[in-house]
Amino acid sequence: QKQTAIITGASSGLGLNAAKALAATGEWHVVMACRDFLKAEQAAKKVGMPAGSYSILHLDLSSLESVRQFVQNFKASGRRLDALVCNAAVYLPTAKEPRFTADGFELSVGTNHLGHFLLTNLLLDDLKNAPNKQPRCIIVGSITGNTNTLAGNVPPKANLGDLSGLAAGVPAANPMMDGQEFNGAKAYKDSKVACMMTVRQMHQRFHDATGITFASLYPGCIAETGLFREHVPLFKTLFPPFQKYITKGYVSEEEAGRRLAAVISDPKLNKSGAYWSWSSTTGSFDNQVSEEVADDSKASKLWDISAKLVGLS
Ligand code: NDP
Repeated sequence: QKQTAIITGASSGLGLNAAKALAATGEWHVVMACRDFLKAEQAAKKVGMPAGSYSILHLDLSSLESVRQFVQNFKASGRRLDALVCNAAVYLPTAKEPRFTADGFELSVGTNHLGHFLLTNLLLDDLKNAPNKQPRCIIVGSITGNTNTLAGNVPPKANLGDLSGLAAGVPAANPMMDGQEFNGAKAYKDSKVACMMTVRQMHQRFHDATGITFASLYPGCIAETGLFREHVPLFKTLFPPFQKYITKGYVSEEEAGRRLAAVISDPKLNKSGAYWSWSSTTGSFDNQVSEEVADDSKASKLWDISAKLVGLS
């Protein structure tokens, strides 16, 4: 059997292009973990992934039951596991009212953070036994959650505060992790901060004992993906040229996909606990995270609350 990577949200954008890049090596089989089977199949065909280089397994991260079912189905498939890539995300920048997952969590936190939190924990043992002996668990991060950067300082800024909203389960009455008023853009940024903190916690808790490499990345601004589907039309028109010519942070879907594929498979990018970013002059480097992301006692508290919410403790 070829090495196997599970990629969540592989039906479009970064996940699809990483799946394509991995499959093209001929050394990897990609399990596309997607909520829309038909969309995933059409997307794989459209980018020319060869038949047999991928399979599609149903996963809806906005339902903990679906996450558990996915893990059961994956285990039953008998496939080996060498890399788990938590890539799927929702972004609701124009939402006036919060939306919720099947379990009643605010949608961005529930999908981007809690769904992946449960998924990674349930698959750790499989990863630990990866036949390629260099297992990786990657959770896609973002510059927007890192307040030590220019992009991260565009309001509303990420801030998990005292985690009181999360402790309550980010429910309708208290949908933000910091317990403040609902803001869709901030909820996304907060969820990405939680993703990056989770990677660091996983590294500290499990790397030595399991040999799994845990890493996060910011692939660059992929201004044309479906992530911005809910944004106002003017934003969608102006954002790509703004990123291309003004901030110069723009990266094509294909290049971003190659970057993620490298974090999954390049022997040189196997540092656990890393947060990979790219510079146009020097290529990949282990970037500095914000003060909040680096706050290990807060991350430990986030871990405990998350474990409770998804039913792991
Ligand atoms: P896309 O919207 O193109 O891709 C997101 C994927 O997530 C889609 O495949 C989508 O599935 C899937 N998804 C959403 N909700 C669920 C769910 N409940 N269950 C399963 N899958 C779900 O956006 P991107 O490719 O841009 O985003 C990929 C990652 O990259 C995200 O983690 C994002 O935060 C990160 N990122 C993106 C940047 C950018 O500039 N675009 C910059 C930095 C980070 P479906 O097709 O069914 O909707």
